[in-house]
Amino acid sequence: MEKFGELYLVATPIGNMEDITLRAIKTLKNVDIIAAEDTRHTLKLLNHLEISKPLISYYRHNEDVKSDVLIEKLKEGKNIALVSDAGTPGISDPGEEIVKKCIEENINIIPIPGACAMVTALVASGLDTKEFTFYGFLPMNKKLRKAKLAEISENENTIVIYEAPHKLDSTLEDLKQVLKDRKITIARELTKIHEEFIRGNLENIEDKVSNIKGEFVLIIEGKKKESSSQDKFANMSLEEHYEFYAKEGLEKKEIIKLIAKDRKVAKNEIYRYFLNY
Ligand code: SAM
Repeated sequence: MEKFGELYLVATPIGNMEDITLRAIKTLKNVDIIAAEDTRHTLKLLNHLEISKPLISYYRHNEDVKSDVLIEKLKEGKNIALVSDAGTPGISDPGEEIVKKCIEENINIIPIPGACAMVTALVASGLDTKEFTFYGFLPMNKKLRKAKLAEISENENTIVIYEAPHKLDSTLEDLKQVLKDRKITIARELTKIHEEFIRGNLENIEDKVSNIKGEFVLIIEGKKKESSSQDKFANMSLEEHYEFYAKEGLEKKEIIKLIAKDRKVAKNEIYRYFLNY
């Protein structure tokens, strides 16, 4: 039986042509076909790298049909590299569909990591990077957009959003309505000459961005975390704290243990306080 080819998901630069890995270049040189979101755009990159390869267009609106064509070629044993116009394929770019089909057909997928605007913006944002949620582009449909904004407002993770250049103002306005004065960093023109990070909060950021052009990633502070049990009980007297648990039907010994834990103090101390309680 003929051996299937492999699908390489190759990350390409998001602006600066030097942001391409040695492995990505080697892969683009070695594959049989390159599937590209915009073949003219990718041709510029390939010319820069002095690579000449057959190109197939693979973009959002022909993803379904073109996936089948690519699967046929992979089954014939051809190795294919998938690239998008910028960054990592499959991240707010075509890629998802063909990956799913390859898995169904037992075709090997090899990701070649590299630039991605979301990660590049997040790490320099100054906001929490431990936990974040990537929303891609917000929906344009009014109802869906409203629901998504409501979901975002409840999320405690740092929020990462992509936005098209001409929609920045209206998106900032919508975010402000829901998220009020949360911190925001706008990462503009990443890796390019005019790269800049505009930091502020949603209520004052508009003054800093009027008429700015380019590509943007928005990084927004998550919802403030619910206060810890230590903060919650700090405002109660010891008696109130005791009653809080007594109301739940707990016994004295158990209550004392919990109070000591909540307040991070020794059990004996609480025990002594409530000796005659
Ligand atoms: N696949 C890409 C990636 O890995 O980041 C994202 C493609 S998505 C169609 C394009 C969006 O990514 C832009 O609208 C912008 O929000 C963001 N983006 C891409 N390049 C950027 C850059 N150099 N600076 C800021 N944002 C960028």
